[in-house]
Amino acid sequence: MISRNLNLVRQQIREYCRIAKRPEDSVLLLAVGKTKPAEDIAEAYLAGQRHFGESYCQEALKKQAELGAYDITWHFIGPIQSNKTKLLAAHFDWVHSVDSFKNAKRLNDQRPAHLPPLNVCLQVNISGEQSKSGVELEELPALCEQVADMPRLRLRGVVAIPAPESDFERQRLPYRTLGDAVKRLGRADLDTFSFGMSDDLKAAILEGATIVRIGTALFGARGARSA
Ligand SMILES: *Cc1c(COP(=O)(O)O)cnc(C)c1O
Repeated sequence: MISRNLNLVRQQIREYCRIAKRPEDSVLLLAVGKTKPAEDIAEAYLAGQRHFGESYCQEALKKQAELGAYDITWHFIGPIQSNKTKLLAAHFDWVHSVDSFKNAKRLNDQRPAHLPPLNVCLQVNISGEQSKSGVELEELPALCEQVADMPRLRLRGVVAIPAPESDFERQRLPYRTLGDAVKRLGRADLDTFSFGMSDDLKAAILEGATIVRIGTALFGARGARSA
C-alpha cells in the first residue's frame, strides 16, 4: 500500500512539475512519518524513499534507533522546544522549523563537530497561522543575516505552513507572497522552499516548492499522537 501511494505521489509531483514548466526532479519528496511506526518507514525506504520528516523529537529518536541500518536523511519539521535543540542538532540532517535567533544559536552551538553544518530553513508565519509559530515576514531579512553567519548551520530556505484552505487559488496565495519576498532578498544561499502538504501539493509546486512534506497521502490518516 505505501509503495503504491509513493508511486502515486511521485506521479503527481511529475505532473505538476510539467504544468509548472519545471524540471521533474526539482521537487524533493519528504515523507512525513509522524505517529507512524518504524515499519511504515522501512516499507517506504524499500520502495526507494530516502528523505523522512518527523515532528516530535522523542518519537523520531526512537524510530531512528530502530532504523539505524538504513541510509536515511532525517528532517525535523515540528515546533522546536529549546530543551530539545541539543538532540535535534545531533540527530538530524535538516531542521525546517527555525523561527528564532535563540534556537538557531543553540542549534549552531550544539551541532557536533564531526557532522557537517546542519541544514536549516526559517519558518515564516505567512497566513496568521493559529500555531503562532514562524517569524513574521518583516523579521525574515534580519534573521536570514544572523543565521547565515552561524558557521555550524547552513541556511537553505524557508518553510510555510499556511492555515488549511480548500480553494486552489487561495492555497497558492501565501506561497506566492513568501516566494516573492524571498526573491526580493536576492540571497543565492536560499535554494529551498519547503511548501506543501498532502492537501495543497499542486498549489505548492506551482508556486515553486522545492521540498514537499507529505504524510497522509503516503501513510494514511494519522491516529492519536504516539509520543
Ligand atoms: C504532519 C505534517 C505534514 C504532513 O501533513 P499531511 O497533510 O499529512 O501530508 C507536513 N508538514 C508538517 C509541518 C507537518 O507537521
